[in-house]
Amino acid sequence: MAEERKIPYKIYLEEDEMPKAWYNVRADMKNKPAPLLNPGTHQPMTAEELEGVFCRDLVEQELDNDNAYIDIPQEIRDFYKMYRPSPLVRAYCLEEKLQTPAKIYYKFEGNNTSGSHKLNSAIAQAYYAKKQGLKGVTTETGAGQWGTALSMACSYFDLDCKVYMVKVSYEQKPFRREVMKVYGASVTPSPSMETEIGKKINAEHPGTTGSLGCAISEAVEVAVKNPGYRYVLGSVLNQVLLHQSVIGLETKAALNKYDIKPDIIIGCAGGGSNLGGLISPFMGEKLRGEADYRIIAVEPASCPSFTRGKFAYDFCDTGMVCPLAKMYTLGSDFIPSANHAGGLRYHGMSPVLSQLYDDGLMEAVSVEQTKVFEAAEQFARVEGILPAPESSHAIRVAIDEALKCKKTGEEKTIVFGLTGTGYFDMVAYEKFHDGKMDDYIPTDAELAEYAAKLPQVNE
Ligand SMILES: *Cc1c(COP(=O)(O)O)cnc(C)c1O
Repeated sequence: MAEERKIPYKIYLEEDEMPKAWYNVRADMKNKPAPLLNPGTHQPMTAEELEGVFCRDLVEQELDNDNAYIDIPQEIRDFYKMYRPSPLVRAYCLEEKLQTPAKIYYKFEGNNTSGSHKLNSAIAQAYYAKKQGLKGVTTETGAGQWGTALSMACSYFDLDCKVYMVKVSYEQKPFRREVMKVYGASVTPSPSMETEIGKKINAEHPGTTGSLGCAISEAVEVAVKNPGYRYVLGSVLNQVLLHQSVIGLETKAALNKYDIKPDIIIGCAGGGSNLGGLISPFMGEKLRGEADYRIIAVEPASCPSFTRGKFAYDFCDTGMVCPLAKMYTLGSDFIPSANHAGGLRYHGMSPVLSQLYDDGLMEAVSVEQTKVFEAAEQFARVEGILPAPESSHAIRVAIDEALKCKKTGEEKTIVFGLTGTGYFDMVAYEKFHDGKMDDYIPTDAELAEYAAKLPQVNE
């Protein structure tokens, strides 16, 4: 054992070893992700159309399937230095507890006030909005991680930030709401009575507590109607995966320092941004035939886009104002059971990851939430960090794979993404402790009902 610990508990990079360019995995994909389509005409969205909604430079990144490396502007690299590089931690204590011959590493993205990896893209998106001379940006947030990250980024660049927060979270999760206000954001419960789409949804569903898809529609409407504003999104889009590649690039650089080659790479998948970012450089090697890895996406059994969804064009929002994206989806009306506490509740999945999954380049598994919280506690008790429920999906599968190694005696190297901390998720932990958490899994009939409502698109 003593000899093995030549590898430190935490592998840090020096400042000058941090990535200077993001890696764009699309450049190495043979089958490119399908283009976004205009929801009215079903034709691919042009840059000009997209620029009505999104910032100019971000549209360019969204449509760029060719350039493998895109320089990270100095201003963003400077901001990254405040909370990055994030540590790659060798989970010696977890390994010992599990008595597994597997070697487990996790990349911890929770060391910033927003508490997750979302700041990596928020700061990039705010930078490009500022560069374009905009007044501000609009967005949606569910539980508030993305809204918090964006508020921090906007206050840094002195931009106005309008956040539409799913009403049930606005009312039940006051803490993140107030953190956003600390950073100067305005936070509106969605559906509101300030937008056409909000009024319509309120009229059709009186008393509705909102959904992510509905908050997206409101945020897009406000961005399009207010001069000097654009809409920004914290996951799913190609540009977000690009920014998040900083996670994978740092991970790879840290592993390379000690000549470590992972066998299995695991990440939780909501819209796919952290997983996409973590795996990008490894997937690049796989696509170029230079190396092989098992890559596993972990999703909740209550919101199983990859494992039980359809690979089809679908709306990204409830109001059907956003472009159509080809992705693994459960249908834009799908809302996970009210008892679902673990996050990762978006109906769709990143088009990049959807294509890679469809091409058999990665795997996906779904896990039940009580099993996720069991893993979270097991992890917290030996590794110290209180994990976010989202991140704990990856912990679950990392532990399961390590236990398989225990049976077979294989010394596999497992790397997983620990996306954030769970301090604001104690109500979910409370439900788990009090035995009030169940594992509702949608039936085939329910999923078929939503799938039947997918838009008809001739490809
Ligand atoms: C938002 C979030 C996720 C899921 O989003 P992805 O885009 O799938 O990465 C995972 N973990 C944490 C802590 C989050 O805040």
